[in-house]
Amino acid sequence: MGLGISRDRVAPRTPLRCPVCAGDLDGVMIRDLGGVTANLVWEMHAGRCPEHGWFQAEVISRPPREIFPVDRPFGATRRLVIDGQEVFAFPTVWNNLPLAEKRKRSPDPLDAAYWRAEPPTGVAMGNGVGRR
Ligand SMILES: [Zn+2]
Repeated sequence: MGLGISRDRVAPRTPLRCPVCAGDLDGVMIRDLGGVTANLVWEMHAGRCPEHGWFQAEVISRPPREIFPVDRPFGATRRLVIDGQEVFAFPTVWNNLPLAEKRKRSPDPLDAAYWRAEPPTGVAMGNGVGRR
């Protein structure tokens, strides 16, 4: 397997969900990248959607800005095609907050509300696809 490194925690809790279907992820792993400063949260979260594959997100004291499709946990970014559009990253609610809002807030980096995926960059919205 090659993943049995002690700094990786297997099956821990993560706010990470599939950015495509918002489903629960299997095989969740969290890699602790921190240690520089005691109170710095610096982690990589990864998990696999049974339908859409592996995804990961990096937490550096703040909620992640993007969720990336990857070929394996902590692996390379892979290309995902949704509705004929290539997607390389899903911006999160946190990413899309106005800068002024971000400055005012100092959220729990693991607050799931900020981890929700927004429509990916490159997918055209408002052109009749997905209209409510
Ligand atoms: Zn999914």
